[in-house]
Amino acid sequence: MSEFDLINQYFKTPVTLRNDVLLGPGDDCALLSPPPGKVLAVSTDTLISGVHFPQSTQPEDIGYKVLAVNLSDLAAMGAEPAWVSLSISLPEADSGWVERFMQGFNELATGYNVALIGGDTTRGALSITVNITGFVTERTALRRNTALAGDLIFMTGTLGDAGVGLNAVLNNNTHDKHLAHCINRLNRPQPRIQAGLLLTQLDRVTSIDISDGLLADLGHICEASKTGAIIKLDKIPLSDELIRYYQGPEAGLNCDPLDSKLDFKPDSIPGSIADWQAITCSGDDYELCFSCTEQSAAKMLSLFKARSLPVTQIGRMTSSGTIECLDKNAVPHPLKIKGFNHFSNEK
Ligand code: ADP
Ligand code: MG
Repeated sequence: MSEFDLINQYFKTPVTLRNDVLLGPGDDCALLSPPPGKVLAVSTDTLISGVHFPQSTQPEDIGYKVLAVNLSDLAAMGAEPAWVSLSISLPEADSGWVERFMQGFNELATGYNVALIGGDTTRGALSITVNITGFVTERTALRRNTALAGDLIFMTGTLGDAGVGLNAVLNNNTHDKHLAHCINRLNRPQPRIQAGLLLTQLDRVTSIDISDGLLADLGHICEASKTGAIIKLDKIPLSDELIRYYQGPEAGLNCDPLDSKLDFKPDSIPGSIADWQAITCSGDDYELCFSCTEQSAAKMLSLFKARSLPVTQIGRMTSSGTIECLDKNAVPHPLKIKGFNHFSNEK
């Protein structure tokens, strides 16, 4: 199969029809018609095999995830998704692989009404780059640099699942049913588009998506906003599956979910500094971390509740310039702020 056969078979036929795509894949450029009164929110993310996903990841999951992580950037900005381009570098023109990859990609593209408007197909080590465009108004876009000391800090969903999922995959524990939830969080993150759009209805929300770890990403907000933060570790929302994992005698692997319900103590588990270090510094959860005033928080909570969107207050912005993590007795836990950094020397 040639480059052009692949393009014709898998990339040219639109799965999502949008009136604002005047010309899709096939010509030298796509022609797009942005809506009046909006500005474009544009972002790019690359996934490299063995770096951003384990080499054993199924093509459907890679296709899903590459779009999900890009949608997550739009969510963090409060933008409505519209168009994507897809650049794919493949070791060989494996049509079976591309078909499965596009199944995952198209599942999400259809779900969020995103149109594939073009791309590039080349031979090389497996690597995929998606460029995404969404719409937002300039006034309501959720930036990183607008937080003030005293603002409340929230996050959507739960933290740490994808990190446990990654460990499970790297240690070949993929068949353990208790870890299935965490592995699914790793492979199929849910971009928080709806949450991001709701936050644009509020005054001065500062937001980021958690891709590199809570402390690292909140650190980016603090740096951009020139604030610090206090995080209450016992308030961080954890899934039942993650708690089971940390409760289990051998990292949760032999733990029966029904048994562990009996002594479920969310405020005491996990307990060790190493557990908290892992939970607050593992990436790939793609939840939103955001801050807002107490007034906005009340409105936000009712908007989220009405749509059953999970959200939890985990701390407060300060003027200290650093992030402090406190346990339930308000004792500081000296956690290191380390997130994923491609050019870091630290392994
Ligand atoms: P050019 O030589 O003008 O760069 P290409 O031969 O690379 O064009 O691509 C031909 C057409 O197919 C272009 O419209 C391009 O946007 C589209 N295309 C190529 N690869 C992909 C892809 N992976 N996904 C979507 N569209 C693609
Ligand atoms: Mg090209």
